[in-house]
Amino acid sequence: MTVKNNIEIITKEINKIISDYKLASKPNLIAVSKNHSKEKALEAIKAGQKIFGENRVQEAQKKWLDIKDKSIELHLIGALQSNKAEEAVELFDVIQSLDREKLAIKLQEQEKKQSKKLKYFIQVNTGEEIQKSGILPSDLPEFLRLCQENYELDIVGLMCIPPKDEEPAPHFTLLKKLAKRLNLNNVSMGMSSDYNTAIMMGATHVRVGTSIFGNRDYTNSGGR
Ligand SMILES: *Cc1c(COP(=O)(O)O)cnc(C)c1O
Repeated sequence: MTVKNNIEIITKEINKIISDYKLASKPNLIAVSKNHSKEKALEAIKAGQKIFGENRVQEAQKKWLDIKDKSIELHLIGALQSNKAEEAVELFDVIQSLDREKLAIKLQEQEKKQSKKLKYFIQVNTGEEIQKSGILPSDLPEFLRLCQENYELDIVGLMCIPPKDEEPAPHFTLLKKLAKRLNLNNVSMGMSSDYNTAIMMGATHVRVGTSIFGNRDYTNSGGR
């Protein structure tokens, strides 16, 4: 299967869910190209794909600096260290992993310095897992207010990664409910294994890697 075939299959599947469940709008398909080559990314671009996701700043720079043009929207979906905020603001259009005040401060600093505005999703730890990044649901209203009022960040939505060994649906439902309550229009949820469920629960953005690009090769990456 080529990247083009895979994108066509997924697009068809998404369209079918939209019509079967009579959903009002079509979610954005983010092609997650992490741990895949520049050539694979170019294949997807050639097939008409415009939105891409990467989880590491350095890898994204190597891949995207010379092939990214204005038509491409690049999302950072992995954890961001504060000391990489400068590079992240330079390269990305959207950061989905905003999860702490220290990072919000750095991002505001860089937006001012670079005269650039990005869009942000706050990552929510819906499973309240101790080791996982993300804001706890109970802390979310206050964190959102800080980001908007103190740090003037354009928060457009919420993102979650459900716990590995649980049904994702309740987490998707919770994320959608939180977004609605806080007047945020976008929810980024669902990956290769569960994007169908996420779309039924109202995802506006799904993040699909493996089903588009195939299995990831970690042998040269020093791990995830
Ligand atoms: C890798 C990754 C994805 C894509 O996962 P697949 O299972 O390959 O579709 C989605 N979201 C995040 C945050 C990721 O790190």
